[in-house]
Amino acid sequence: MAVTTAPVDATARAGGRGASEHELLLVRRGPRTGAHTIIAVHSTALGPALGGCRLWRYQNLQAAIDDALRLSSAMTLKAAAARLPLGGGKAVIFPSAGLDPHGPGRRELLRDFADAVNMLDGLYITAEDVGTTAADMHVLSGYTRHVVGVPTADGGSGDPGEFTAAGVKAAMRACCSSRFGSADLRGRSICVVGLGHVGEPLARRLDRAGAALILSDIDDSKRALAAELGGLWREPAQALRADVDVLAPCAMGGVIDESLALELQAQIVCGSANNQLAGEGVADLLAARGILYAPDFIVNSGGLINVSLELSGYDRELALRRVAEIDDVLAGILAHAEEAQLTPLAAALELAGRALADAGAASSSGISSGTTGREK
Ligand code: NAD
Repeated sequence: MAVTTAPVDATARAGGRGASEHELLLVRRGPRTGAHTIIAVHSTALGPALGGCRLWRYQNLQAAIDDALRLSSAMTLKAAAARLPLGGGKAVIFPSAGLDPHGPGRRELLRDFADAVNMLDGLYITAEDVGTTAADMHVLSGYTRHVVGVPTADGGSGDPGEFTAAGVKAAMRACCSSRFGSADLRGRSICVVGLGHVGEPLARRLDRAGAALILSDIDDSKRALAAELGGLWREPAQALRADVDVLAPCAMGGVIDESLALELQAQIVCGSANNQLAGEGVADLLAARGILYAPDFIVNSGGLINVSLELSGYDRELALRRVAEIDDVLAGILAHAEEAQLTPLAAALELAGRALADAGAASSSGISSGTTGREK
């Protein structure tokens, strides 16, 4: 096991929030499976670091560490902007070669991960993320208390994807209101890329709201959803460049780099994927092209808001009400951005920075409550 501050080369690639700002990075090789578990705790200034556990085959260990670092700093922003008494953390399970995470070895993989979570004694609380499910959280709850997002049958809040999707839709309403003068999604062309735990329920919600859908995934079996909802199917590279009112990236992060930013035809980018922009400078490029980019850590905060309520006694109705407030939160950010001539991302960072500053935490987390200097 290694408990360490992050290496300097990881800092450089941690997406603008250097790893030197992280409180803790744990890299552990599981004794049962040989798989690496990485837990990155960016900040506990506002409370214990809550963030999902991603199970993914990265190119190498360094790529997995970088992702955990990036994702955990985004969680600090997300919790702070949502005014939750939580810090930012994230975990990654990087299965060793030869281990099939979908086979019988999965339980042992989760046990190795639970041991790592327990080592941090509540500093980090885990939940679902890409590659893990509420059923996995059920298994984990047998080995650690520091887990949320457990199934409703266990008294938990279940899969957060549905709530994240509700939040993304609420955010789209705020974006459409700002851009088109009406929050109504009826007749809006919307392209959802990534039809997993968030993308699928999002597509269903948008369909019910009367949007004209384009759907996309690398998994061809998801074509069935497009057929069921009467939406068009596009391959991801085409879908990302579709001429639509709203593009919703709901797969992996880093999808919008500088070259894609110059090719996008959507008027609004509003999706669930964490860390959608390959770099913060991309927000400036999008703004310069007149594309409204809704900051991902505001748009996708529904899942975190939902699971966080498990810590104080879960109430589904309260969760739905809190998630629906993302519409107003984002509307406030967009209005402030307009007024102060900031990008929405800069305005959202300001909001998160203010919440951290109120708790006397901004300097230690490396997040400033002042403007970030990125003007429109
Ligand atoms: P998921 O694993 O259930 O679904 C991801 C989907 O994207 C899969 O269907 C996969 O086939 C597809 N995909 C992968 N790479 C793709 C590509 N290059 N192009 C097109 N499709 C691709 O994950 P999820 O839980 O739905 O999460 C999606 C995103 O939203 C992630 O970035 C996640 O971190 C973020 N997010 C999820 C939640 C949540 O509640 N699940 C909350 C906040 C943020």
